Amino acid sequence: MSKVCVNNVEKYDVKEIEHSIIDGLRKIGFVIPSGKKILIKPNLLTDASPSKAATTHPAVVEAIVRVFKGNKMVIGDSPGGIAHEHLFENTGMKNISEKYNISVKLLTENVVNKGFMISKEALEADLVINVPKMKTHSLALFTGAVKNLFGCVSGLGQRMKLHRENTDIRKFYGKLFDIHEIIKPKLNIMDAIIGMEGNGPGDGTPKKTGYLLLSKDAVALDLIAMDISGLMSKEFVHETKKRKLFSEPEVIGSYNKVNYVKPKNISYVINLPIIKEIVKYSLGKPVVLVDTKKCIKCFRCKAICPVSAITIVNGYPSIDKKKCIRCFCCHEVCPASAIWIKNPFIFRFVSNLKKLLFKRKLLFKR
Ligand code: SF4
Ligand code: SF4
Repeated sequence: MSKVCVNNVEKYDVKEIEHSIIDGLRKIGFVIPSGKKILIKPNLLTDASPSKAATTHPAVVEAIVRVFKGNKMVIGDSPGGIAHEHLFENTGMKNISEKYNISVKLLTENVVNKGFMISKEALEADLVINVPKMKTHSLALFTGAVKNLFGCVSGLGQRMKLHRENTDIRKFYGKLFDIHEIIKPKLNIMDAIIGMEGNGPGDGTPKKTGYLLLSKDAVALDLIAMDISGLMSKEFVHETKKRKLFSEPEVIGSYNKVNYVKPKNISYVINLPIIKEIVKYSLGKPVVLVDTKKCIKCFRCKAICPVSAITIVNGYPSIDKKKCIRCFCCHEVCPASAIWIKNPFIFRFVSNLKKLLFKRKLLFKR
């Protein structure tokens, strides 16, 4: 049974978080090493400011750097979309690097391991500290410690291929668990002080949650984080059971559930599987659209699309509905909230009805 420590942390105060980490490490029985090569792997999805809650807050990363001083640390990620010029500056990582004289880097060097191009830094580190953010995810429902390791897969091409070949969410989770088995981070610290609800992981709404979670086991940590946020993914649980990783985690501390608003993705709102299937396959699928009024023409969406469904028409991206596999990667990387997911009429009708009726427990999940 893996231990998961849930500590209350109300604000992004580096010293308070530092104390919380030291306390949490003691509770889960993790001994702070010295003289080791450490990769700190935050979620740096995009070059957004920390206030957007799309990325791990720099105060959490800074507190980790302070706790693990005396080791050779690197902060690294391989973010969604094309490499961003201002990624480390905008997310606050550059400041930390300068203040503590440690390096930050894009995880571009890789080694092929079990068919995946895995970051060399992750494989060669004595310790990977996985530092995810608690967020919703339009495709996977929830993104936490296991999903954060997708950023240790180097190269946009490889990640696009994984999306292209695994459009079924259960298959996609299978790949995430394969990656987790390769890296197996020995320490996971989740920033759930302010998470993201709604249309995460890039375009949702910040959600005050007030917790810092620590565990040596990424899967156990995610199970507790999903319980807190109400984002329990059936596919995640299925995969943990299939791989015999499922056991009831031992929670150290206590928490209140802070139910997150789910993404506006058809799969996660209607509760009855049969209705979900009818809606999905008979009455239409979500359509991904571009709002040209908001678009700033950065073309990150075009660069990330795994099936080349996006072309430029009259200076703006245009999505070929027939080619689109609804991976929502373009939505994830758009810095201007210009990509939106339009659900079929029946879905919008049911959602509106839900709001009117308020009988959520009868037919609908919250
Ligand atoms: S839709 Fe978004 S990602 Fe695509 S070009 Fe416009 S602003 Fe950039
Ligand atoms: S258009 Fe967007 S949602 Fe559709 S396949 Fe391309 S990246 Fe995925």
